[in-house]
Amino acid sequence: QSGDRLVVVSNRLPVVVKQVDGQWTFIPGSGGLVSALAPVLRNRGGIWIGWPGTSDADPATLSGLLREATRHSGYSLKPVALDQRDKEDFYYGFANEVIWPLFHDLQSHCNFAPRYWDAYNRVNRRFADVIMQNTRPGDFIWIHDYHLMSVGQELRAQGIAARMGFFLHIPFPPLDIYMKLPWRFPLLRALLEYDLLGFQTLRDRRNFLQCVRLIAPDLSVSGKGQVITIRVGNRELRVGTFPIGIDYQEFARGSKAEAVVRKARELHEDLPGRQVLLGVDRLDYTKGICHRFEAFRNALQRFPELHHRTTLIQVVVPSREDIPKYNALKMEMERLVGEINGQFTQSGWVPIHYIFRSLSRTELLAYYRACEIALITPLKDGMNLVAKEFCAATPENNSVLILSEFAGAAAQLQKGALLVNPYNVEEVAETIQRAIIMGPGERRARMHKLKRFVREYDIFWWVDSFLRAAIAKDLSNFPVP
Ligand code: UDP
Repeated sequence: QSGDRLVVVSNRLPVVVKQVDGQWTFIPGSGGLVSALAPVLRNRGGIWIGWPGTSDADPATLSGLLREATRHSGYSLKPVALDQRDKEDFYYGFANEVIWPLFHDLQSHCNFAPRYWDAYNRVNRRFADVIMQNTRPGDFIWIHDYHLMSVGQELRAQGIAARMGFFLHIPFPPLDIYMKLPWRFPLLRALLEYDLLGFQTLRDRRNFLQCVRLIAPDLSVSGKGQVITIRVGNRELRVGTFPIGIDYQEFARGSKAEAVVRKARELHEDLPGRQVLLGVDRLDYTKGICHRFEAFRNALQRFPELHHRTTLIQVVVPSREDIPKYNALKMEMERLVGEINGQFTQSGWVPIHYIFRSLSRTELLAYYRACEIALITPLKDGMNLVAKEFCAATPENNSVLILSEFAGAAAQLQKGALLVNPYNVEEVAETIQRAIIMGPGERRARMHKLKRFVREYDIFWWVDSFLRAAIAKDLSNFPVP
């Protein structure tokens, strides 16, 4: 890797600045992405630019806290300010009522309010301004995700000299769906301004290239494999697939900690003789939680032998509750849980255990460890890290992963998981039944394959391969995982 600095840009900084008991303080971020990027940023003298999680702290307090957070993390943190209107029109509006649903193939959930597009450009320009103030030629600027797709174009307009890469953490939709976007052409042109574009899967990259071909019939593609080069007009850029991973060792090791093992045992003691199914999702209509409940109901109707023998634990982590669609989803989910439990509960057995809150790391690992079957059935998902975390944390000889074919993770995990179409409730029900009766030999063989993939293509591999793709002279040695 070159000795030049890395500048990471994301909607949120890897710290949250907030008030606790009237005192402003910061909470360092956790998660795989932060821990994988931190050593690279420290070694190269990097910067992370993003929104600090509050718009209320006065500038002096904020910069004091970020200086302290910088000392703590070992790399520099620079804030971008967002006000209430930005949050409404840029974050909740364009990012989460336009791009999020459309890119997950759910155009009926979109609200294409014209003011959202203006806010998106205004905020993307503000990010570009902060980047310009903090970078120098030779830096590599790595911009993350759907909130910031136009930042590269703003930087070009300001004459940036540094090289720029962009990674899309969510799916890229098929042509016919993308074309519904009122701002489809300017947004595509903005994406073409990067030097390196990264997608989660080959399917996402193929969708993107089909859209580009429409605005640029002269598009030429050279190379094949994980990273290719495309030429559009006078621009040449690299386009790659980089399926994001997790910190495997942290989950594998963490799941063996004494507190986790104890908690997992307690959880299972409360459910004696049961095969426990587990769902863990943020509150989101893309996660297919209601379809999953219907599939579970279908299984209980068609396979009465499952009564008393199985329980579904569904954890839903609160998210975006200010958006009406999310609130409606919560009501519908809770209505369904009530209905299904009302229909099947018998003395000593409640079919669905529903948890609506975020879990501590110990609790999450204990659920991964205690539950025999992960039931992960998003209608569409960029990757789905829960699927990978479950594989890393679960004992090898005991567990089964049921996974939606529309999760990005399915491309990598298809050999070990039981893949399902989440819209087909009968198929999901039959797969639940199949998982429950699956013998230990098949479980072990499948989980062994899953663990191998999740371990090999972890978050450190992901960071490294994206950064290598940005500078490599020869692209032929990038294997598709
Ligand atoms: N997670 C969490 N709190 C919880 C339960 C889960 O932070 O109470 C984490 C989980 O460990 C995973 C992430 O939330 O890393 C969810 O990532 P995923 O890719 O599955 O879905 P996303 O929420 O990004 O759409």
